[in-house]
Amino acid sequence: MSDRIYLDNNATTQPHDEVVQAMLPLLSQAYANPSSVHQFGQAIRHRVECARQQVANLLGAAPREIIFTSGGTESINLAIRGTLALRPTKRHVVTSAVEHSATKRLCERLAREGYRIDEIGADQDGRLNLDQFADCICDETALVSLIWANNETGVLADVDPVAALTTERGVPLHLDAVQAIGKVPIDVTQLPVQLLSLSGHKFHGPKGAGALYVRRGTRLRPGIIGGRQERDLRGGTENTPGIVGLGVAAELALARLAEGSKSVGELRDRLERGICRVVPETVVIGGSSPRLDNTANIAFPGLQAEAILMLLSENNICASAGSACSSGSLEPSHVLQAMGIDPRIAHGAVRFSLSEMSCQKRHTKV
Ligand code: PLP
Repeated sequence: MSDRIYLDNNATTQPHDEVVQAMLPLLSQAYANPSSVHQFGQAIRHRVECARQQVANLLGAAPREIIFTSGGTESINLAIRGTLALRPTKRHVVTSAVEHSATKRLCERLAREGYRIDEIGADQDGRLNLDQFADCICDETALVSLIWANNETGVLADVDPVAALTTERGVPLHLDAVQAIGKVPIDVTQLPVQLLSLSGHKFHGPKGAGALYVRRGTRLRPGIIGGRQERDLRGGTENTPGIVGLGVAAELALARLAEGSKSVGELRDRLERGICRVVPETVVIGGSSPRLDNTANIAFPGLQAEAILMLLSENNICASAGSACSSGSLEPSHVLQAMGIDPRIAHGAVRFSLSEMSCQKRHTKV
């Protein structure tokens, strides 16, 4: 499988070797429970707290503001449910029409429970209508929850004015930063966000390990997983290998962001140019918006993405149609529908998502 061309990094990334090496001892000899008082347990506690510091550093946060979870979906659920539970008189949530299904599904459930959900629309380039935010937020609003970098198009939400607005109106803001982490610099000392979700496997860390940033002073009720761990917000014995791997991935992501490498963006642009030259009718969805430099959502009008993906797969090229979670369904993704993309185009939309590892492999020549 050495000649596999992996262009599905928004679905998941290959863990860095350093991540795997750091995790291995915790899967074997370093197995103690970090809550145990003996020295063995406390040595592992130290590893967990180092990882908390590493994740905090990536965000410009304090270690106490990091709660370890099992990944993006759990962090999002803890952020949203945990906030709503403590604001019982406020039954209104503002979000967008281009959220990841983790948020979308939760909001659908909340609507069934009687919450009023307002979804901000996006234009054909995936840009959110920021004026709508200002109009939607009211005294009833318990929370604004917004995806920072879209997993399907890579389009970036302009989070600064949203955070300024929510601060002015006194409404907590949660950002789903699962795709933004490691790709755009994040500094919570500059961005007034109360809650921010991240997931290890999207930035070369392990699966099943993520975190929720909870700004100091933000009130949150524990999730369904009660227990004493993680400041009583997320019970259960810590996933120590995952947490340590997440910490190393965070440290490496911070170092690479500081280096400011442009090579992923250059390779993505080459890929887009190459495909558009060979297949002239192609459309780059979100191509004129500020977006992640690893993501190319390319539509082949009149074709079915599933058929293209099968052909690519036969040639050992891994890509996705829309989000991996929605593959298997012939409906165009809700994100492309919300952007008002013509169904003839949306049905043929294929997402190619690169990573720094794509640049290291000679066989990614296009
Ligand atoms: N949010 C976004 C934007 C995502 O892309 C994903 C995963 O695809 C998630 C949330 C869910 O993260 P996890 O797979 O860690 O539960």
